[in-house]
Amino acid sequence: MGIVVQKYGGSSLADAGRIKEVARRIVESKKAGHDVVVAVSAMGDSTDELLELAEGVSPLPPARELDMLLTAGERISMALVAMAISDLGFTARSFTGSQAGVITDSAHGRAKIIDVTPGRISAAIADGHIVIVAGFQGVSQDTKEITTLGRGGTDTTAVALAAALGAAYCEIYTDVDGVFTADPRIVPTARRLERVSYEEMLEMAASGAKILHLRCVEYARRYDMPVHVRSSFSHKEGTWITPSQPGEEEAMEQAIIAGVAHDRSEAKITVVGVPDKVGEAARIFEALAASEVNIDMVVQNVSAAATGLTDISFTLPRTDGQQAMSALAGIQDEVGYEKLLYDDQVGKVSLIGAGMRSHPGITAKFFASLASAGVNIEMISTSEIRISVIVDEAQVDEAVRATHTAFELDATEVEAVVYGGTGR
Ligand code: ASP
Ligand code: MG
Repeated sequence: MGIVVQKYGGSSLADAGRIKEVARRIVESKKAGHDVVVAVSAMGDSTDELLELAEGVSPLPPARELDMLLTAGERISMALVAMAISDLGFTARSFTGSQAGVITDSAHGRAKIIDVTPGRISAAIADGHIVIVAGFQGVSQDTKEITTLGRGGTDTTAVALAAALGAAYCEIYTDVDGVFTADPRIVPTARRLERVSYEEMLEMAASGAKILHLRCVEYARRYDMPVHVRSSFSHKEGTWITPSQPGEEEAMEQAIIAGVAHDRSEAKITVVGVPDKVGEAARIFEALAASEVNIDMVVQNVSAAATGLTDISFTLPRTDGQQAMSALAGIQDEVGYEKLLYDDQVGKVSLIGAGMRSHPGITAKFFASLASAGVNIEMISTSEIRISVIVDEAQVDEAVRATHTAFELDATEVEAVVYGGTGR
C-alpha cells in the first residue's frame, strides 16, 4: 500500500488523552496496511510557553540557543506519541529532525530545508516500525547546528518527508475539518472546500489563512505532492490540495471564488512628501532590504503638480515595524522626505479564486460589498487570482463576512466545527 505521511498539530496533541487518541489513529493506518511516517508539532501552546520562558531569562536570546530550546517541544511530542503507540502493541521509533535527515541552511529561526536524507526512516520502516519525526526542525548542512523552520513549520516537515519518501500523499491533521471558504472562527457559515489547487492555497496561505504553512504549500506544489487537510477530532473527509485540472476554471461547477482570507499581522508605513525623482523609491526600499525587512504591498501616489512631492505607502510584518522605521529615519536627509507615518491598526482582507481570471466584475463586486458594510479601503493589490485590500483592523471581521456573503459562499447549514483552540 505504500507510505503515508501524517502530520499532527499542537492542538491535536494538547494532552495525554489527545496523544493516546492520535496514537490510535496512527495504528489504524498501520493496520490498514500502510507504512506510516508521522511528523509531530509541540503539544498545545508549548512553543509559545517556551518562547515566554526564554524572554523571562533574556530579552534577546542567542538564535542558536533559542532553536535548541524550541526543538525540545517537538521532541517531547515524538517520544510521548511513540510510547502511546507501543502501549497499543505496535513499535514506533522517534527521531529528531536531524536524525531523520532533514538538512537545512543555517538561518536559525527561519531555516529552509535544502535536502532530506531519510536513510534511518527507511531502515526503521523496513524493520516494521512506525516512524515519528519531530517537526519544525533540522540540522544545518554548513554549521551542523540544530535549526528551526519558523512558526508552523511542521507542515513543511511533513510534506518534505512525503516527497523524499515517495509517499502517495500527505495528511495534515488539525483542529478543523479542512480548508474553509473563510476562517470558521469569524464566519460560522463558512463552507468546507472539497478541493483547492496549489495556486489558490498558496495565495490563501500568503494572505493570512493559517491552516497551512506557506512553505509547505510551495513544497507540495514543487513536488506535486497531494495534501489532505483534515481533522484529528473527526473521521470526516477534509480538503484535498492538488494541481489544478486543465479546463477547470471554465467548467460550470467550478466556483469562481475559493475563499476569503484575512491577516492581522501587518502594519502600514507611509513615507510622506518624497521628491518625485528617479531613484527615490529604490533608495527607500534598498534601505529596508538592507535591514532585512520584508515588504508586502506598495502604493505610490501621483505627485501633486504644485509641489512635485509624492507619498509612498507599504505594508510589512508588524514584527518588522521598529526595524523599518529606524532604517527609514536613517535616510531622511538623503531622500529628503517630509515625515513617516506608522499604523499597526490595519488588517488585510483577500478574495482568492482561480475563476476570477475569466470572470469580469469580481473587483467591482468585492469593493461594493465592502462599501455596503461601511468599510473604507486604504490600499489595494492584486495578482491574477487574488484581490487584497488593507482596511481598519477593527473592521476586518465585518469585511470578511460581507464579502463571504456577497459571493454567495455562505452554507445554508453550519457545517464548520472548531474542535481545538489554536488552529494548528
Ligand atoms: N511548534 C511549532 C509552532 O508552534 C511548529 C509547528 O507547530 O508547526 O510554531
Ligand atoms: Mg504549534
